[in-house]
Amino acid sequence: MAEHPDVRRIAGWISKAEHVVALTGAGISTESGIPDFRGPQGVWTKNPRAERLSNIDHYMADPQVRAEVWKARLESPTWSARPAPGHEALAELERQGHLHTLITQNIDGLHQLAGSSPDRLVEIHGTMREVVCMQCGDRGPAQVVLDRVRGGESDPECWDCGGILKSATISFGQPLVDADLRRSEAAAAACDLFLAIGTSLVVYPVAALPQIALDAGARLVIVNGEPTPYDHAADVVITGPIGEVLPAVVSYLS
Ligand code: NAD
Repeated sequence: MAEHPDVRRIAGWISKAEHVVALTGAGISTESGIPDFRGPQGVWTKNPRAERLSNIDHYMADPQVRAEVWKARLESPTWSARPAPGHEALAELERQGHLHTLITQNIDGLHQLAGSSPDRLVEIHGTMREVVCMQCGDRGPAQVVLDRVRGGESDPECWDCGGILKSATISFGQPLVDADLRRSEAAAAACDLFLAIGTSLVVYPVAALPQIALDAGARLVIVNGEPTPYDHAADVVITGPIGEVLPAVVSYLS
């Protein structure tokens, strides 16, 4: 693909900005082989029934749903996925001192694997690399529980209290972690450039973050495969593959 004419302009804005915030969504990880929800090859686009598995009420009420979720976790492409060029580009942006905060809706841990530092990163929808007990709050590594699923437990219980175990992710119907939301809102309110990358910008409250940045006078740049509700308000919208656009932007910076 020929370079998009706005790539150089975005690099110029990044180099002059004092406080850049990036928000990523499932679209940055499709190039790592992890499907998104709402894109053309998305999990929900292909199977609308799958949405039910992401709802906390169904999960807590129905052992059959939990069994389906654990099976899907076991088979997730995430465990063998490697960071894509988009993840690498954001890690490089941080290394160069250009990225203040990286907010991700993704639960796959690929930003850390690419080298983004935990203290700059907000995993606002949690992580599938850990599990949590819904009763006693105990947390631990996901692989230990997945080994139990592999061994035949369809709905493994908490070892300590017998409570329902769940990936340490925010399901639909669950509140966000307050400190994560406040940190993200503060970063958006303080930024002068907000990059929204690979997200349909329809999942609230995260989808309110670009508006917070706009209200604070920041520029908004969107890189996504499809239109978003914020396109009309953005300074630049690039409809193109993240794995080409972000490395091209970073190539103009140092
Ligand atoms: P979404 O599925 O609603 O939207 C993803 C967007 O990315 C789509 O608009 C699609 O056009 C775009 N996209 C896909 N591949 C692209 C590419 N290579 N280049 C440019 N654009 C591309 O995702 P969302 O907005 O993040 O919301 C979905 C929710 O699902 C999030 O809360 C997230 O936690 C969760 N989720 C996470 C993962 C993951 O961790 N990898 C995967 C699926 C869903």
